Amino acid sequence: MKLTKLNPTQLLDQAQIRWNTIGADQPDLLQTIALQRPLVERTIRTVDSLSGKEPLMQISMSDLVDKLERGIPALREEVVTLPVNLLRPLVEEACKDLARGESGKAAERVRSCLDSGRIDIGSLLTASFNRNQIAIRMKAMQEGIAPDVLWLASELAVGPLAYVTVRSLFTLDRVRISELWPHGYCPACGSWPAFAEDLPGRSHLRCSFCGLDWPKRSEKCNYCGESSNLTAVKTDPSCPHRVELCSKCGAYLKWLEVSDPTPFELLPVEDLASFSVDVMAAEQGFGRPTLPDLGEPNRPPCEAMEEAT
Ligand SMILES: [Zn+2]
Ligand SMILES: [Zn+2]
Repeated sequence: MKLTKLNPTQLLDQAQIRWNTIGADQPDLLQTIALQRPLVERTIRTVDSLSGKEPLMQISMSDLVDKLERGIPALREEVVTLPVNLLRPLVEEACKDLARGESGKAAERVRSCLDSGRIDIGSLLTASFNRNQIAIRMKAMQEGIAPDVLWLASELAVGPLAYVTVRSLFTLDRVRISELWPHGYCPACGSWPAFAEDLPGRSHLRCSFCGLDWPKRSEKCNYCGESSNLTAVKTDPSCPHRVELCSKCGAYLKWLEVSDPTPFELLPVEDLASFSVDVMAAEQGFGRPTLPDLGEPNRPPCEAMEEAT
């Protein structure tokens, strides 16, 4: 996995340059940029503050290889103790920031639900770290709050920790990953890729939760494995990006042409910069799929969310 070489100041500068360009090219995204700015800035600060800390988990190379051969992402089935006191304010701040956007009222309700202590933060963060969307969705519905906002707020808090963990854990080179991992979901955390990056001479998929890049091994649909129903579309002749649409499963994959791999902290910025591709895919009836079903959760969702209350 490629390490982030830029320091926080350089990352902020790079983000600012990109936001300026995106805002100039797509003025209708200015409000979204204003909403994204504090979230990205917090991710940059959090990654920096976590970087010197003791790794959250360790796994031997033989155990890692064994898991990957069985199709199990590296972070799955590991018992970890998350630094809840460090992450708790990040969830609260994420809710505060989200409350300024389109889902403002929903974010406020999530925040007051968290403030009331009706959701155990430790269990919430663990469910997010384990990519257990079912547990978070069920708990949100039980509390009458928006599942997507609860999912996003916890993901924003835990993502930097997942990134720092995977960075120290995942030392396999891309050839070895390619040999071991034919799947479309992330070999570290099990998420679908946010997009794929076309670089000079190579390409790879990118996970926006843990930041890992890994090779797309097959020419088939990244999600369902079909090939006969896959079409690649160029969105706009002047735009370097393209999109793969699968009429079998209805999902799409964005391909971004970049000169260097996007630093983890700036993945949401590039996702936003290529928003026109998402719009084009949505207009044609295609969507981003929900998380892959890997047979989780091991425990009933409510128990997982309430064990520490
Ligand atoms: Zn991942
Ligand atoms: Zn498909």
